[in-house]
Amino acid sequence: MAKYRGPVCRLCRRAGVKLLLKGEKCYGPKCEIEKRNVPPGAHGEMRRKLSDYAVRLQEKQKARRTYGVMERQFKSYFSEATRHTGVTGEILLQLLERRLDNVIYRLGWAPSRKEARMLVTHRHFLLNSRPVNVPSILVTIGDVLAVKPVSRSKTGLKDHVEESQNRSIPTWLWKTPDGFEGKIMSIPARADIDTQVEEQLIVEYYSR
Ligand code: SF4
Repeated sequence: MAKYRGPVCRLCRRAGVKLLLKGEKCYGPKCEIEKRNVPPGAHGEMRRKLSDYAVRLQEKQKARRTYGVMERQFKSYFSEATRHTGVTGEILLQLLERRLDNVIYRLGWAPSRKEARMLVTHRHFLLNSRPVNVPSILVTIGDVLAVKPVSRSKTGLKDHVEESQNRSIPTWLWKTPDGFEGKIMSIPARADIDTQVEEQLIVEYYSR
């Protein structure tokens, strides 16, 4: 499936929730969902009753767009989740949370997952002391992440790190006091993941 290149706020309005795709704007009054939470389109205000299939499809799209994952890759995460013992929907979310771009975003080193992906591909981070440029790498317990020393003075990154110092990070992550290094302390439990998605509906979508 082709990459979506249209206005991203439209995706949030379609989903009816904040997907947090635009960084700082998502937390302010200019957020489209704050201003006008109606589906896009001329007849958007006339909410239609969705079929069971559409509800499940929408939930899958919500998760996929939140994490910025393409259709095929999302399906492969689901297949991997089914191979593990445990609750499939929860394992799927854990896999998505463990993506390197998501962890960079969660640590506050980027204002959105999209920007985190770009920073990773530009090699601004070290994973276990080695440079990385693959946003989809899955991190695991004990992995150490760091902003590359040469990138620490770069204005954009420095600003993100400084701004994130006032914000809390998920309990499954840890950050040094200067904010430039982090560590994966555990695999996130469902309660640690604030993504607004009903993962059971995604499981039902793929099990139909
Ligand atoms: Fe736009 Fe962000 Fe608000 Fe979504 S959450 S509507 S991307 S500003």
